[in-house]
Amino acid sequence: MKRVAKAVKVERADPRSIAVVGAGVAGCALVAQLRRLGCRAPITLLETGRGAGGRAATRRSRRDDALAIDHGAPLFNISAEPAPALLAPLRQGGWIGPWPPGPAGLATLEADGRIAAGSNDARLAGEIHGGGRGMESLAGGLLELAAAATPAGVAGPKVCYGVMVRDLVPTAAGPWRLLDAQGQVLAQADWLVLAGTLLAHPRGPQVFGWSEVPLAAAARRLGDPRLAAALQSIAALRSEARSNLLLMIAAAAARPWLSLPFRHLSFTPEAQERWGLERLSIQPLADGRVVVVAHSSAAVADRYLGIHGSRSSAGRLLDAPADPGAELRLIQALSEALSASLVAVLPDGEGLAGVEQRQLMRWGAAFPCAPGLDAESMVCPDSRVALCGDAIAGPGFGRIEGALRSGEWLAARLLSEVAAS
Ligand SMILES: Cc1cc2nc3c(=O)[nH]c(=O)nc-3n(C[C@H](O)[C@H](O)[C@H](O)COP(=O)(O)OP(=O)(O)OC[C@H]3O[C@@H](n4cnc5c(N)ncnc54)[C@H](O)[C@@H]3O)c2cc1C
Repeated sequence: MKRVAKAVKVERADPRSIAVVGAGVAGCALVAQLRRLGCRAPITLLETGRGAGGRAATRRSRRDDALAIDHGAPLFNISAEPAPALLAPLRQGGWIGPWPPGPAGLATLEADGRIAAGSNDARLAGEIHGGGRGMESLAGGLLELAAAATPAGVAGPKVCYGVMVRDLVPTAAGPWRLLDAQGQVLAQADWLVLAGTLLAHPRGPQVFGWSEVPLAAAARRLGDPRLAAALQSIAALRSEARSNLLLMIAAAAARPWLSLPFRHLSFTPEAQERWGLERLSIQPLADGRVVVVAHSSAAVADRYLGIHGSRSSAGRLLDAPADPGAELRLIQALSEALSASLVAVLPDGEGLAGVEQRQLMRWGAAFPCAPGLDAESMVCPDSRVALCGDAIAGPGFGRIEGALRSGEWLAARLLSEVAAS
């Protein structure tokens, strides 16, 4: 994947319109970088979730103002040079900050229960960052950067939340039409960007019961060999699941958790095998409560694959978990594993004594598996379709770093494409 070192203005004639499906980090980075590079085209960003962030979102509650849970990625690292161009403005705006924010940082749990400072996890190599006010600040900051970089007289990116794109229709006159499940037109644009694989991967029909992959249906009508090849590569992409246990600890019982010398605990591969957990993220809330997020190992998530997190973007569209009994069993199993694995630092189940709430967050496709997709092959100029996201191969693959880089790369690539047409 090519990198964009700094923003360069591109002079272009008529603006064309771009519709982006997915306001995760990649989609938001794409929109921000398009504007920073001088793109004047109308941009519509469509997201099925209640807000931006995707797998790097922060769970909030309408009934509980202080609640904020980073239920997916709790932090992110930048492992390669040069850093994504958007990193510096995000830092300057306070949307991201150095992690850890306090003295308690990283630790590793061994299979014998011992805890050592630091971590060898590849997801923590290099510079580590956290969200300014939860991980949602990252995607939120990208959208604010996009708005700030929008030239006078040009409409800011139009962002629509709570809309699920179901059908992609190429029209005879040229533009793409994006429809919801009822056939209503959500957006129309010259270029279609999928900032995520759901509409292009067999997982979509598997999870939602669609009769076919929406982009594949469109591709049949277009007869573009490049798009057909891109779809084949996307179909071969595999991903790992995770099931995260979210615990809300009452302020009165928070002390043992806050006294721990770490805020992020990585389990070694042997420890993961023993307890079925991969990592632990301890997230203090402003009102004294603490959220503990226990990420399952890939193996445990696989074992319970039929369960969908009731508040995941997939889960919200499904009527109910496939097996509510299994969901409770998984919550129980993860709670027991957590208690047992922490016995050296939280004796006698002390830590779980003040648990006010337990929830499950199931990520059916948490991490794409290597080697990932070739960025250049995901741009199909004849069909005016492109894809970005953490599934693009290159530095940061499968992580937020890769999502940022893929959005930046695609912004530059799209502008050269539009300029050439
Ligand atoms: C449990 C967990 C822990 C993680 N830990 C880390 C970590 O420590 N460090 C790190 O760097 N990364 C981590 N990651 C990975 C990181 O979260 C992802 O790499 C990154 O967020 C991917 O961003 P993205 O924009 O490519 O995709 P996504 O975040 O998946 O964004 C895609 C967006 O598109 C939306 N969407 C999809 N289809 C449609 C549709 N049809 N209509 C409308 N909207 C649609 C989705 O709702 C979503 O918001 C973790 C992920 C998980 C799940």
